[in-house]
Amino acid sequence: MKNSYSNIFHFNKKIMRKTIKNLKNGDIVGLPTETVYGLGGNAYKSKSVKRIFKLKGRPIFNPLIVHYYNLDRAINDVEINKNVKILYKKFCPGPVTFILKRKLKSKINPYVYAKLDTIAIRFPKHKITRAILRNINFPLAMPSANKSFNVSPVNPIDVYEEFNKKINIIIDGGKCRVGIESTVIDLTRTPKILRPGIISKNAIEKTLKLKLKNKINNKKIRSPGMLGRHYSPGIPVTINQKKYDGKNAFIYLGCRYKNKKNFFSLSKKKNLTEAASNLYKILRKIKKKGYKKIQITKIPNIGPGIAINDRIKRASKSK
Ligand code: AMP
Ligand code: MG
Repeated sequence: MKNSYSNIFHFNKKIMRKTIKNLKNGDIVGLPTETVYGLGGNAYKSKSVKRIFKLKGRPIFNPLIVHYYNLDRAINDVEINKNVKILYKKFCPGPVTFILKRKLKSKINPYVYAKLDTIAIRFPKHKITRAILRNINFPLAMPSANKSFNVSPVNPIDVYEEFNKKINIIIDGGKCRVGIESTVIDLTRTPKILRPGIISKNAIEKTLKLKLKNKINNKKIRSPGMLGRHYSPGIPVTINQKKYDGKNAFIYLGCRYKNKKNFFSLSKKKNLTEAASNLYKILRKIKKKGYKKIQITKIPNIGPGIAINDRIKRASKSK
């Protein structure tokens, strides 16, 4: 691609070889996954990991998810238990992250897991990133490819807008199908969801044949990245809105305000999976159009609506 996006590349063998070479050398690349775009680096190399934190402006206490081609490749890094085997079989590769006990012999760089005794692992489904993971002999530390506290990117141009030319390669894998981050589940003890996602609590309960605990106990932080403001489009967001105030952008479900200026539908059919996949795209679009504020209608708190509400609630926090 020859334009101002000269670091966005279509995927082919040549760019795959270049990407792998860069990753081996400790460089950081922008990669597509089915959830959101990631900022990938060699999880064994301190140079790569430090650069990820620096690029994102991410607090060092917030650990990164480690991405593998398959579960076999994670056996030297984490304790594999029965629950992870069952969930892996059912959902992976796919949009779910498992927190597991770290093995002492693991070669993962300590900054990745923020010196905790656990590691978060995931197996992304996007075929481009799977092809890369398959052909490297190290896992990738890969947070979402946005500056900390911002909305995650779901298109290659979103990644470019976050980091410009600070990264040499952004691979174009199209719009992310899921569009919000993975479900994070702690499997170090009685399973517990730390971040809701498109793979629901119900689906996990059914698969494991057990009831998950409901509330995340905030007094004891189990997922350091789940605190305070996050997913912010950079302008104020108010949620559970009933009345349009006449000048802001208004996000809703359905097609009641079709073609009406300032109104943005997450899903014309009120489908919550589609709504989740459009959420970040629409937040970014509204910001770009120059609106000063966003109102969001009440989103049903069921299925993917739980994950949407988690993200918009954080987006609406001022701190
Ligand atoms: P991101 O990579 O930006 O999608 O965020 C990753 C999420 O996983 C954050 O909320 C992290 O706090 C969480 N996470 C990563 N590693 C761990 C871990 N070892 N224990 C608990 N949460 C983790
Ligand atoms: Mg993130």
